Amino acid sequence: MRHEGKLEAPAAKGAALHILSNMTSTEFAALARRCRSAILPVGATEGHGPHLPLSTDWVIGVETAQRAAQALLAEGIEVLLLPPILYGVTRSTADYPGTVTISEATLAALVKDVLASVIAQGFTNLCITNHHLAPEHLGTLFKVKAELEAEHRARVAVPNMRKPAFAGEPTREFKEGAIHGGSFETSLVLQAQPELVHLDRARTLQPVWKSIAAGRQFGAKTLREAGGVDGYFGDPAAATPEEGEYFYDAMVRLVVAAVKAGLAATA
Ligand SMILES: [Zn+2]
Repeated sequence: MRHEGKLEAPAAKGAALHILSNMTSTEFAALARRCRSAILPVGATEGHGPHLPLSTDWVIGVETAQRAAQALLAEGIEVLLLPPILYGVTRSTADYPGTVTISEATLAALVKDVLASVIAQGFTNLCITNHHLAPEHLGTLFKVKAELEAEHRARVAVPNMRKPAFAGEPTREFKEGAIHGGSFETSLVLQAQPELVHLDRARTLQPVWKSIAAGRQFGAKTLREAGGVDGYFGDPAAATPEEGEYFYDAMVRLVVAAVKAGLAATA
């Protein structure tokens, strides 16, 4: 089993998708003549407990992007899938071994340069599928969105990936603000790359019902200080494929709506 993550789509489901890193320059030029939408997955490389890979956030970001691209293609709308950003602003998990963090300035410069380069080649309708939700990371992406939209004739959507909870009855993890490495993220990785999930370990983990936001309010600088001593919050043992599908469906709806709205706005 190869464990390098989903930087490339599996052939069976990826055949019709326009994955930039798999395309030739000639194929790209042909696509650029008829397509102006692109999706950039963004994640982080950070600790998510003893049962999930450090790639959790970007695995989910890539899977969401690919599923959204498939859903759009089914409606006749083509999109370009950009290679993911694999690092994020993760100071709050920096004391979990293996976390690799970059600064806000580095993230902003990287995302901005990548998207500006794509905009210059005609892709003016952009969507970021971000699955690292630390406020300082998310705030940086919103800042980049505003700057790019001010400087270019382009639209950059950053759908709020907490919203999906929200289409129906929020799960206990969302109600309690205990979202890191729990059932939500374990279920999502399970549906994207099951070979990366140590489900046997997940099933033995005791739930951690502590609010990350409340911990921050009381001065916790890291998730560990906020109560995630073993690298996770919520209830990883409760993860199911059904929960993963439910949340992918909800996130894909957000991305599809954002891409369509962007197409209308940049027409
Ligand atoms: Zn995460």
